Amino acid sequence: MTASTDASTLQARAPQLHAHASADFNAKLARTQALLQRAAADFAPVTQASSLGAEDVVITHIINALALDIPIFVLETGALHAETLALLARTRVASRVPVTVYRPVQEAVVQFVAREGQDAMYRSIDLRKACCGIRKMEPLARALADQKAWITGLRREQSAARAEVPAIDTTEARAKFNPLSDWTWGDVWHYIATRGVDYNALHDQFYPSIGCAPCTRAISLGEEFRAGRWWWEDEAAKECGLHVKHNERAPA
Ligand code: SF4
Repeated sequence: MTASTDASTLQARAPQLHAHASADFNAKLARTQALLQRAAADFAPVTQASSLGAEDVVITHIINALALDIPIFVLETGALHAETLALLARTRVASRVPVTVYRPVQEAVVQFVAREGQDAMYRSIDLRKACCGIRKMEPLARALADQKAWITGLRREQSAARAEVPAIDTTEARAKFNPLSDWTWGDVWHYIATRGVDYNALHDQFYPSIGCAPCTRAISLGEEFRAGRWWWEDEAAKECGLHVKHNERAPA
């Protein structure tokens, strides 16, 4: 596919396109399972942060398959795609561990939109980060308030900024587990394909990374994995704050 190819003209579904296990996939899966078991045993209370993207549905599936005591939470920003909301509803029904939804403070959203407009995020990085602060960071703080550790779907392959992601990060007060840190995109889809895991329909429309509708677009072949996130900004700015260390955050 070239950069000019219309993604909607391609019919193949994401598992068929992407599933390709690494030679050491089974060893990676065993390490991931052991890491999640350790998180549940030694770091309780611990929770999984799910964006309902491919990596996160794999982690949720493993948590449920191993019957681990790791509840899941989703930040429902009020700006998610219909496909993501549909998967959220299905996940809440199918998951054996609870799935809690955290939403922004409605009054803060209303005031921000009234003051800055619906499209404020496109006008400046500061306004985009202000929107992320209200819709993501404040609900995230509530979701993590009583947690000793949390689990994410970060992978080193996703971007240059994530190239050094460790399997466990204990450099902050709350430990962060990244159990898929060394998985490839092909590994993720191999797991989804071989286990029949429910996934976000946006992946069939060439959205590798799942986020808010105004800030996430499909990508073309040859584009970076996260090229569809905040595509109007410089590469260095492309994190919403969820995965930025405290000592790396710009002053509010
Ligand atoms: S990703 Fe976009 S819509 Fe979502 S909270 Fe951030 S700026 Fe707002």
